[in-house]
Amino acid sequence: MNTTPRVYAEIDLDAVRGNVRALRARAARAELMAVVKADAYGHGAVPCARAAREAGATWLGTATPQEAFELRAAGIDGRIMCWLWTPGGPWQQAVEQDIDVSVSGMWALEEVIAAARTAGRAARIHLKADTGLGRNGCQPADWAELVGAAVAAQAEGTVQVSGVWSHFACADEPGHPSIQRQLDLFREMVAYAEKEGADPEVRHIANSPATLTLPETHFDLVRTGIAVYGVSPAPELGTPQRLGLRPAMSLKATVALVKSVPAGHGVSYGHHHTTAGETALALIPAGYADGIPRHASGRGPVLLGGAVRTVAGRVAMDQFVVDLGQGTGHGVRAGDEAVLFGSGEHGEPTAEDWAKAADTIAYEIVTRIGARVPRVYLGG
Ligand SMILES: *Cc1c(COP(=O)(O)O)cnc(C)c1O
Repeated sequence: MNTTPRVYAEIDLDAVRGNVRALRARAARAELMAVVKADAYGHGAVPCARAAREAGATWLGTATPQEAFELRAAGIDGRIMCWLWTPGGPWQQAVEQDIDVSVSGMWALEEVIAAARTAGRAARIHLKADTGLGRNGCQPADWAELVGAAVAAQAEGTVQVSGVWSHFACADEPGHPSIQRQLDLFREMVAYAEKEGADPEVRHIANSPATLTLPETHFDLVRTGIAVYGVSPAPELGTPQRLGLRPAMSLKATVALVKSVPAGHGVSYGHHHTTAGETALALIPAGYADGIPRHASGRGPVLLGGAVRTVAGRVAMDQFVVDLGQGTGHGVRAGDEAVLFGSGEHGEPTAEDWAKAADTIAYEIVTRIGARVPRVYLGG
């Protein structure tokens, strides 16, 4: 780079590869799907998908069909599955691009069968069971109808039931009673589909927390998202280091201005911070338009001048301020690097620290980093 970027997200693809290998070792009897939806949780879908493939992820997963098409357009082959469909969706394009699709109900099965007929080839579908999440998926009461219709379509050659799958509600809370209930129901619903002749290639229910903590949920395939990026699914499960993962994203900014101000000076919109004494303020040119949560106003941590400091006052759209404290010993100058979060290995805060400061989960911290923030890749 010729110019120092205002703010940028450094993505360590070696960390992505290492995490995929670590997760494969944890779920040694299953295949691994790297979930790269939402631009790989903000890390960049195509580079992360390639890195994950290099490390042995035989499957890639996206939410929307458009996200799956983006991978194909970049020349990524092999198994790709997408699961978030609405009526009238691009089923035919998915079939033609050999993308596995999820089917949660009769309307989706009817649309995918019609698309397969037009495309002149069988659609690979994964029947999704709602085993208790209460979100997407087919209710147990409607399962017989969906399985029956899918098996009939399979006999006719329009679909191939390549998967039966489900998703956990509380896998990040080990010991939660819903986990066992969902697992039991999943086994029952899989057994029913198999008895009816579905013969799925993969049965899958585990997300990152289940992959890390519940080996009995691995089945044939684990679908890991957040862990691929080296972020802990929940503070209760431990730090990334304890889970054998390395955070891939570091968010860095260049200090735009350092200036001395007198005591009693209001800082940023609403004056929610006032300088306690004569001090210096550092201007960090990143704000909520870049994905810095405004909810972390007055709380977000930043490594700057060798110390972890705190956002002073409100986070604005494009900027926030750090109060460097009294005295001139801070040594911070315009042009210095400020690290908002990273691996934590060099004393910087982590995405988990920002999640705590913003009263949210670390998933949201990395995923919300905005399109205005360039991604800079290491280990490419
Ligand atoms: C996002 C998602 C995943 C990955 O979840 P993580 O907790 O990030 O591992 C797996 N399955 C489905 C259906 C998802 O939507």
